[in-house]
Amino acid sequence: MAVLPATPPNIARAAGVLRNGGVVAFPTETVYGLGANAFDPRAAARVFEIKQRPCFDPLIVHVLDRAMLGRVVAEVPDDAERLIERFWPGALTLVLRKRPAVPDLVTAGSATVAVRMPSHPIARALLASTELPLAAPSANPFGYLSPTRAVHVERLLGASIDLILDGGPSEHGLESTIVALEPRPALLRAGAVDVESIEAEIGTLARGLEGQATTIAPGQAGQHYAPRTPLRLIDLAAVPAGQRARAGALAFREPVEGYAALAVLSPSGDLREAAAYLFETLHDLDSRGLERIDVEPVPERGLGLAIMERLRRAAGK
Ligand code: AMP
Ligand code: MG
Repeated sequence: MAVLPATPPNIARAAGVLRNGGVVAFPTETVYGLGANAFDPRAAARVFEIKQRPCFDPLIVHVLDRAMLGRVVAEVPDDAERLIERFWPGALTLVLRKRPAVPDLVTAGSATVAVRMPSHPIARALLASTELPLAAPSANPFGYLSPTRAVHVERLLGASIDLILDGGPSEHGLESTIVALEPRPALLRAGAVDVESIEAEIGTLARGLEGQATTIAPGQAGQHYAPRTPLRLIDLAAVPAGQRARAGALAFREPVEGYAALAVLSPSGDLREAAAYLFETLHDLDSRGLERIDVEPVPERGLGLAIMERLRRAAGK
């Protein structure tokens, strides 16, 4: 394993690894991804193995451009066209009918595939250099916090990955928003593109998975996006002083007294900033040997929806 700065020669080297069936961690604007050739079931199998991800949880396929999209999906309905026009390249994943060339392992047996065109220049350079769509979930062990820096990937999965490209911290720090188009537009996962702007393009999205083409929910059962330290969502002001000394606190805007460790997500109350620091801050708090992490809820509008979805899962609710 090597962590290499994402220079053009190292990107070319990573592309070689990918073309030979290897697995490479690389930066995207959402979080760091663990990539493999999306057409190679053996390479994709290594991604599942490294992440210890259950095979019923399908991967997101990353494409460079429309031509590459055409190699992966069978058709692009009108609503999808509109969303592509407005949000790609970017942090929106669309679930579309797949071509037979996409292996069942990648889609967990579904006739649909989740695809996204990333905007991150290094992710794009890697896609351009391999000339292959890359199946890439977040580069973390299944269920754990997503990585927003190369050092997180190195710490968590370093021993089992062929190569890690270091491109600095991820801009959004939060996974992509996932939208399915059939049988009707539905939000499968809140994420870095806020739901309100998507609905402004194509109208109201159904919530949850009822009646959808797949039964797979993002991070379906139980705990997900979770640190190893127990985490609870709680009004920090209501926590008795006696419960603070060995715990950490993650506040939204205002600092609180008496905790062993404290982080404030956004003093100005900016939900985009809070999203960008969320996983990074939790990685840090998780490394401090705290008894517990108390997290203050954020307002559930805009990116607050995606943040709260992650925090509820992390709390195991
Ligand atoms: P990530 O772990 O960020 O790569 O996100 C992968 C998630 O995308 C999965 O957990 C699924 O919820 C979702 N997903 C991927 N493929 C599909 C699909 N064909 N249909 C529905 N959801 C999908
Ligand atoms: Mg993930």
